[in-house]
Amino acid sequence: MSQDLLKLSAAQAVSAIQAGDVSASELYDFYRRRASADEFNSYLSVDSDSTIAPAGGELAGVPIAIKDLFCMEGVETRAASKILNGYVPPYDSTVVAKLRAAGASFIGKTNMDEFAMGSSNENSAFGAVRNPWDPTRVPGGSSGGSAAAVAAGTAPWATGTDTGGSIRQPAALCGLVGLKPTYGAVSRFGMIAFASSLDQAGPITRDVADAALMLKHIHGKDASDSTSIGLPEDVVAPSAENLNGLKFGIPAPLDWGGVQTVVKAVFDASCKRIEAAGGEIVELPLPHADYALSAYYIIAPAEASANLARMDGVRFGQRADVSGGLTEMYETTRGEGFGPEVKRRIMLGTYALSSGYYDAYYGQAQKVRTKIVEDFKAAYETCDFIITPTSPSVAFGLGEKTDDPLQMYLSDYFTVPISLAGVPAISLPAGLATSDGSAVAEPGTEGALPVGLQIAAPHFAENKLLDAAHVFERETDFADGPWTWGS
Ligand code: GLN
Repeated sequence: MSQDLLKLSAAQAVSAIQAGDVSASELYDFYRRRASADEFNSYLSVDSDSTIAPAGGELAGVPIAIKDLFCMEGVETRAASKILNGYVPPYDSTVVAKLRAAGASFIGKTNMDEFAMGSSNENSAFGAVRNPWDPTRVPGGSSGGSAAAVAAGTAPWATGTDTGGSIRQPAALCGLVGLKPTYGAVSRFGMIAFASSLDQAGPITRDVADAALMLKHIHGKDASDSTSIGLPEDVVAPSAENLNGLKFGIPAPLDWGGVQTVVKAVFDASCKRIEAAGGEIVELPLPHADYALSAYYIIAPAEASANLARMDGVRFGQRADVSGGLTEMYETTRGEGFGPEVKRRIMLGTYALSSGYYDAYYGQAQKVRTKIVEDFKAAYETCDFIITPTSPSVAFGLGEKTDDPLQMYLSDYFTVPISLAGVPAISLPAGLATSDGSAVAEPGTEGALPVGLQIAAPHFAENKLLDAAHVFERETDFADGPWTWGS
């Protein structure tokens, strides 16, 4: 029976509960037990809200794991930072409130890179998360706990947030579906802010139907977030049969230099699948995309340095015990509370915004961002979607990139241009690599690691994107994830 529960996707679980085949409390207990026994450090707290939603509502009580970036009423919320130790929000983020209203139950808060800064989940103040496909490797970041939880089957689905790739890259590295909606589709209210002009919430799920189901319930205009606008139409369950008449653009020339050979091989195979399903592959220029990473690593730290000013030991969380005055209290609280990557970002951001440097760094980066937005606009005049690999490599080893921030930042090469443009994108399981990353592997190969395909769409074209993703998913022979491997 328990293996049967594990086999249910979130959408299938909703149907099973509604049909009376499974009870909501049975499913909740099942996942709570599994999450409590989690071996990958995916959770910062389990059973954080023991109220099981009444099995009414469209989500019928189906449990979900929530990234620790989302405020949840009465539940400690720390964004995996020591500085927020003891912070218990008196309110729900809009995403949590919407899921609650739709009848979801909550399994726990998932681990993440501190304040969502990172690509490996090694920047958590509460320890790294391990990848369920291979526990010696990272799950990606910053939503690494959410991805590991879904991959290991300690949650049927989870929320993530994506500023420069934090939903898509961990989804790719854990063999899952990860959707970053259009900037503004989902309210940021109650999400602890990293870079406010980029942050977006979205689903990390086993399949495309679940991603559509979650998006349906979390999108919407929200008076509490003036940048939210919602989606222009209801999100519907994807149902397309083929990709006939759709053009998929590959940015050209694309720099494959830093990309693992096997990632390129899986990408080429994905293009063939798209063609076999009726889609057309075209090349198109995205001339400024190569500058995206440089612009992002100015803009995101600049916004972060401003947002994190509020972590001062007065309003939220932990306060250092000092005998001196206010300034000493601020300095000691922040010195003790923030981890090294967060400090690095605050210093980079403060520098980029400081008088005399603002125009040279922040102003320049904003100009590049505008160029990238224009590139995407022009590209979508000739194609329906833009495709790239999601990540330049398969999941790397724990500790492999921690001493070299630049190498870590390069993990975001394919995801960041899309974030700057504000368009929606999905990462889909596209194939497998052998454990040494040297060759494409067949499903069932011992130690194989997942490779993701990223598909980006024009602003607000989420339904079209989900439809195309659904067709691709059906065409792809992908291994069932670690959640099927036993126990
Ligand atoms: N890896 C990127 C960074 O460290 C993106 C993080 C994110 O999307 N939250 O900034």
